[in-house]
Amino acid sequence: MKKETDITIIGAGASGLMLAALLENKNILLLDNNNKIGSKILVSGGGKCNITNGNVKSKNYLGEQRFIQNVIKRFDQNALLIWLAKRGLKPIIRKNNQYFCENSAKELTNLLEKEINYKDIVLNTMVESVKKIDNGFEIFTNKGKIKTKKVVVATGGLSFPKIGATDIGYKISETFGHEVSTLTAGLVGFTVQPEQFFFKTLSGVSTEVKITIDKKTISGSLLFTHKGISGPAVLDASLYWNKGKIAIDFIPSIDINILKSSKKNISNVLGLSNRVSKTFLNKLNVEDKRCSQLNKDEWCKIELLKNYTFAPAGTFGYSKAEVTKGGVMLNKIDASSMMSKNVDNLYFLGEVLDVTGELGGYNFQWAFSSAFVCAKDLN
Ligand SMILES: Cc1cc2nc3c(=O)[nH]c(=O)nc-3n(C[C@H](O)[C@H](O)[C@H](O)COP(=O)(O)OP(=O)(O)OC[C@H]3O[C@@H](n4cnc5c(N)ncnc54)[C@H](O)[C@@H]3O)c2cc1C
Repeated sequence: MKKETDITIIGAGASGLMLAALLENKNILLLDNNNKIGSKILVSGGGKCNITNGNVKSKNYLGEQRFIQNVIKRFDQNALLIWLAKRGLKPIIRKNNQYFCENSAKELTNLLEKEINYKDIVLNTMVESVKKIDNGFEIFTNKGKIKTKKVVVATGGLSFPKIGATDIGYKISETFGHEVSTLTAGLVGFTVQPEQFFFKTLSGVSTEVKITIDKKTISGSLLFTHKGISGPAVLDASLYWNKGKIAIDFIPSIDINILKSSKKNISNVLGLSNRVSKTFLNKLNVEDKRCSQLNKDEWCKIELLKNYTFAPAGTFGYSKAEVTKGGVMLNKIDASSMMSKNVDNLYFLGEVLDVTGELGGYNFQWAFSSAFVCAKDLN
């Protein structure tokens, strides 16, 4: 391992790899505590990595909107797709405008590794702290000390500690006077209270729902699990959840008034799978009979399916979360370079910042856009 470099990037994840690929200077060092590069890329999108989305707007992110917009517009999804295509990777588009690797996320890590050619990647190296010295920084690792002129913190968030996540990025930022907003697990399932334990009997079943949290409404699939609820709509809902109640419309495409004259049994007209409708009717204490035979009281109970309100017990936590909500606050970061406004030549990229994207490729896009902006400053 080099003992002195011009630029040291801490974290060989999405943002660190993209930055290393874009840098012209070859005297750089890319450090990571894992035994391979891009660990999260490799496990993402069911192993196929949802690289970006055809429709990226700042409103797809939690965080300071103007900052996010300024960064994304310099290297948006179209620029990313062109950059990848020039290097032989043409992601395929799936539902909801999401772009995935065709066969495996390895297509992306292989491409990035090839682009990084001739620059040093040092794996299995845990960064422990960073100190300011004259003309640069000292980086302390479990393998010794490195002197560097510039440091880029691309250490990601706290989710999935089993593949390398640590809190080092937040610690480094605090060493240099940055503030970190409240950190919580995001894009994650909810655990439930005893009143909703019956959900667990539906474990493995998916159903279309509309979830309302505060003023935000999210449509999509909900997956019942043995721990509670998950699935795309729930993961997005977790971004807006702050320990309060959520309301789920389990029959979003159904107008209850129209059902009232139906001659069919209620379980057959709710637009739910047989198992889900029978479980909910049983829980509501409504007998499964012809709609025309249901009384007013029973219709009132069925109405609850359109606005099933409860407070989740919590989330599945960082071990299952796709991202960390919160991060290094943006007020002390320069959006035109990603450099700290407190300390020259110290940069922050990707998920360690207080920017969190919705499900659908937005988080990788943020990692790549912020890397591009930083590369422009460093080149
Ligand atoms: C299961 C899962 C699926 C996901 N799927 C998608 C998806 O399909 N689309 C999408 O847009 N987003 C997805 N995400 C989110 C996405 O992976 C992250 O937002 C993105 O990787 C963040 O990039 P980053 O460069 O900031 O951090 P990371 O990619 O997490 O990279 C940070 C790197 O720093 C290393 N590191 C941490 N601490 C230290 C230390 N002390 N010393 C040395 N190295 C250290 C880590 O090991 C890691 O390799 C998913 C996340 C998970 C967990």
